[in-house]
Amino acid sequence: MNYSDNVGVVFVNEGAENNGFNFNELKEYARKLNKVTSIWDIQEILQKGKKWIISEIKEKNINKLVIAGIEPGFYKTFLANVMLECGNNPEKVYLASFSEYAATTKNDIDKAKTIIACAVYNADYEKIVDFGENSVNTNTLVIGGGIAGIQASLEIAASKNKVYLVEKSGTIGGHMAMFDKTFPTLDCAACILTPKMVEVGQNPYIELMTYSEVLEVNGEPGNYQVKILKKARRVDLAKCIGCGQCAEKCPTRTPSEFDAGTKLRKAIYIPFPQAVPNKYLIDEKVCTYVQTGKCGICVKFCPVPGCINLDEKDKIVEITVGNIIVAIGYKVFDARKIEQYGYGKYPEVITSLELERLINASGPTGGKIARRVQDKKGFWIFSPDEIYEPKSIAIIHCIGSRDENYNKYCSKVCCMYSLKLAHLLKEKLHDSEVTEYYIDMRAFGKGYEEFYNRIKNEGVNIVRGKAAKVEKIGNDLIVRAEDIENGKIIEQKVDLVVLAVGLEASEDAKKIAQILGISVDENGFFNEFNNISEPVDTHKGGIYVAGLCQGPKDIPDSVAQASAAAARVLQSIAKQKINNRKQNFSISEVEAKIFNA
Ligand code: FAD
Ligand code: SF4
Ligand code: SF4
Repeated sequence: MNYSDNVGVVFVNEGAENNGFNFNELKEYARKLNKVTSIWDIQEILQKGKKWIISEIKEKNINKLVIAGIEPGFYKTFLANVMLECGNNPEKVYLASFSEYAATTKNDIDKAKTIIACAVYNADYEKIVDFGENSVNTNTLVIGGGIAGIQASLEIAASKNKVYLVEKSGTIGGHMAMFDKTFPTLDCAACILTPKMVEVGQNPYIELMTYSEVLEVNGEPGNYQVKILKKARRVDLAKCIGCGQCAEKCPTRTPSEFDAGTKLRKAIYIPFPQAVPNKYLIDEKVCTYVQTGKCGICVKFCPVPGCINLDEKDKIVEITVGNIIVAIGYKVFDARKIEQYGYGKYPEVITSLELERLINASGPTGGKIARRVQDKKGFWIFSPDEIYEPKSIAIIHCIGSRDENYNKYCSKVCCMYSLKLAHLLKEKLHDSEVTEYYIDMRAFGKGYEEFYNRIKNEGVNIVRGKAAKVEKIGNDLIVRAEDIENGKIIEQKVDLVVLAVGLEASEDAKKIAQILGISVDENGFFNEFNNISEPVDTHKGGIYVAGLCQGPKDIPDSVAQASAAAARVLQSIAKQKINNRKQNFSISEVEAKIFNA
């Protein structure tokens, strides 16, 4: 290394308080780097003033500054001016941004040290963490069969390369399959999704493994050995004719996941009529035979001999792939956690996902709004016998999002899906009054602001103010809210409250991150390598992320990201080479590369 600069490192430790980042260790590391002559905290500089730092820089003959921290960019202009006033080149202020490469937790300390060393010695971090190139197996594993996983699989299969699509539930489709319409075009969700699902089921290059989970991944970029648990469906995919006689007679019921619990399904079931594969399966957790060894009614009524095998066992299969795309999606926020909105206490308070199913013509009530009632076994369901027309409906935004006590981030889609739901409610219940309570209206995408204006013109009341409470006084359901624009407190009597629940990382994200050796951020979403230049790559070569598991986003963005991840896979297959990028490396490994560069 031929290096002549004298470097000062300024540490910005804002935003680091809550994640256990050890700045003292980083400072000690930076202090020992050859050519680093001074270390400061930005707070010290701000307290002692501009004159003080100018004299420090001059006295120590410093001609280059590195600002290091989770988000250090905020101070760049100020320090560039300082350099100018010192008679130095203001261009020689560099950022060592930990968040740019997702080094934000205490486990990322070596990565943060590498980022600092690269900034000090003008080395390219992205090249430094690539440890050579490997050859590539042309098979790809896609984990998760929502719209993102479907899109990625179809893109890769179109190039005649093999894809294993592993889906945890009994069907592909994910959340999109639950919706009637999608914003902002109000296109029929099923009309877009179902043909893609069918294509996945029929594509000779896609091996679909539903009711399956990834257990173990070993190997290196370009050559991963994967163990997959194929859970026993107990119904033979090749023999089942989908007649449904088994489910008709099965005595066991449980809430249907596909219907967000708004109705019940049997222990032997098909998740929904357009499921792919379009075959039944048995839920071992609720099947009486699996749990107690008694029952077997479905076997008696199935017209196809040997189709149901109640004693079928789980299998483990092993595959080898070159690349892996993770697309395991999300879960919605549990509205029970915020007691003041009364979810779980008042039957008239429902979630947006439940309303998606209620309002859907193929949902539990044929698209009509129904009262939630408790059945004899204690399940709260929406029955077609309880249909009514609520006269006044409140939709409350940001439930579990942008909230210091739950999730600080914006879930990005709730404003738009709430407007969509308001439109669908007005379409079905012309005389009903629909009011949206929002904090800020985030209509961020193409055609979204126009959609917002259209819904306002349809007569939906849009009130800027956070609803504080939903309570029942006698038989009246009351929403208490603040109308910020008109400076008054509102108490609105309503018949139905819809909680626009936020989006959270999937409950499997941490487990999958551990299996794959990649990382998640403080909210549980997968970290990407570089959110600007490599937004679908992870810190490990040959592993990519797509869709909501990387962070809240809508369907168009999930699809775009899935296509991008597929492009990265196909690039490596075309080149027959893949970068051996590691998630975990020792600082001595990278230093050897930096100093030999
Ligand atoms: P998902 O749809 O969640 O799919 C993930 C898949 O991975 C699932 O099939 C799941 O079973 C599977 N999986 C999970 N864990 C594992 C595992 N360990 N192994 C294997 N498989 C696994 N967006 C719009 O653009 N327009 C709308 O109108 C719209 N309306 C919405 C309404 C509501 C109420 C909500 C909550 C969201 C809405 N969205 C809308 C957002 C939309 O749902 C997401 O953008 C989209 O579904 C993301 O797709 P995905 O494939 O990333 O995730
Ligand atoms: Fe249902 Fe009994 Fe068959 Fe299990 S064995 S799926 S409980 S009918
Ligand atoms: Fe399939 Fe047999 Fe059930 Fe008919 S009765 S849906 S063939 S498992």
